[in-house]
Amino acid sequence: MSDGAVNSRALQVGIRYERVRVEKELAALEVELAQIQGICSHPSPVKINKGNTGNYDRSADSYWRECACPGCGKKWTEDQ
Ligand SMILES: [Zn+2]
Repeated sequence: MSDGAVNSRALQVGIRYERVRVEKELAALEVELAQIQGICSHPSPVKINKGNTGNYDRSADSYWRECACPGCGKKWTEDQ
């Protein structure tokens, strides 16, 4: 076997290994992307009640909840 053939074979093995590695990373990123895009149903988000009260004009008082999903890390707010 010539040196050239050995190098070519090593290159092919390397490419195959690299492709598997990249495909695994891609699959993991696709899961992450799905979660970021809101496909995660946020089964048990952490919700913290927040309020802005004590305004001179009571109609300016507002209440909301800060929510965070421990599953995907998404954060959002909702009205109380
Ligand atoms: Zn989530």
